[in-house]
Amino acid sequence: MKAEILSIGSELTTGQNLDTNSQWLSLRLAEIGIPVGWHTTVADDLHDNIDAFRIAVDRADLVLATGGLGPTLDDLTREAVAKVAGVDLAFDEVSFEHIKQLFARRNRPMPDRNRVQAYFPHGAEIVPNPYGTAPGFAIRIVKRTATPQAALVIAMPGVPSEMVAMFHEQVAPRLLALGMGGGVQIQRKINTFGTGESHIEEKLFDLTRRGHVPEVGITASDATIALRIFARALTIAEAQAQIAPVEQTIRDRLGKLVYGVDDEELQHAVIGLLNSKRKTLATAESITAGLVAHRLGQISGASVWFRGGVVAYCDAVKAELLGVSQSILDAHGAVSAPVAEAMAVGCRTRLQTDLAVSTTGLAGPGGATPDKPIGLVFVGLAWDGGVVSTSFNWAGTRTEIQSRTAKQALNAVRLKLLESA
Ligand code: AMP
Ligand code: MG
Repeated sequence: MKAEILSIGSELTTGQNLDTNSQWLSLRLAEIGIPVGWHTTVADDLHDNIDAFRIAVDRADLVLATGGLGPTLDDLTREAVAKVAGVDLAFDEVSFEHIKQLFARRNRPMPDRNRVQAYFPHGAEIVPNPYGTAPGFAIRIVKRTATPQAALVIAMPGVPSEMVAMFHEQVAPRLLALGMGGGVQIQRKINTFGTGESHIEEKLFDLTRRGHVPEVGITASDATIALRIFARALTIAEAQAQIAPVEQTIRDRLGKLVYGVDDEELQHAVIGLLNSKRKTLATAESITAGLVAHRLGQISGASVWFRGGVVAYCDAVKAELLGVSQSILDAHGAVSAPVAEAMAVGCRTRLQTDLAVSTTGLAGPGGATPDKPIGLVFVGLAWDGGVVSTSFNWAGTRTEIQSRTAKQALNAVRLKLLESA
């Protein structure tokens, strides 16, 4: 039993839009124990669509298609599937009524073209779409193999929100009722920050080797190194039981490098710790230009502990708003440990917080000097007992250096909070 995901749209094959539906559907299918063997992306071309469906029907048992169900001439999924199934298109009065009502509710006349959305390959089961004009459909199509069996083809709208709702509300229950899948595959992601991929691998080589059950993989993204634990079992409880001891081993070996799980970012960890330690924070940002503050602000409830920040790009603002003395700026330059520390101290005093974090550095691509390369950054951290700074030499584009520096700043706050009572 294997599934194929077929994404339809020239906006996808030209690279204008990213095919996120395949990713999302693959994750959901894995959760209900249906392995995905293929992702296919095809342009809005009838012949190419017919080929893609034909190939998918022959090799997969389940074909989940998205896109091409709109009212325009380039929406060809209905026609292509009918052709591959060897049937005509048939008009469905109930779907047509639904489409008409959607327009009536929005007080807009229905263009004639939308009528095509009420046509389906003859014999298909219609999958209603309460959230848009494009209903989906499901149809069994016989394979062209020596022992002919049928593949189940389900066509869903391309608009991600409509596809997601249709999958959850109608498609997944059908697949389970048909006895497809069985067993579950779940994954747990353990997020770390503060060291490199090879260093992490060294500490976990026995877990990441091929064939380990459950499987443990390492991925690096924007200086965050994540361990993904994949478990396959008959029930969620069994899969979780496989994951738990491996997660514990990873946490024991990596200690404070681990900051969160799954979708958690450093800002979640920081706001959580500020909350549990009842400490307030302010930011003084040069190189990151407000990115640290922005990320803190993404977390609900941040305003209780995050008091605010200063974006201090030029020296005059560092001096006037943060109280960095001209003599320190002259002696060391804006990109230096003493300036990072003075920014943090000044920010903490002026915004009256328990902690203040600062960033200064060279994001490039221009502006390197013989002793200060692009990517050199300093993060300062001030608290009631003192001030420290850390420096790092990041590689990457301007955006990457800024993002990684913001993470470095958030991580400095996190580590300090972990130390405090
Ligand atoms: P369609 O159903 O083909 O008319 O698609 C409607 C819209 O949904 C497109 O313009 C895209 O913006 C979006 N869309 C279609 N397919 C995908 C996909 N595979 N991933 C993400 N977005 C998609
Ligand atoms: Mg389309």
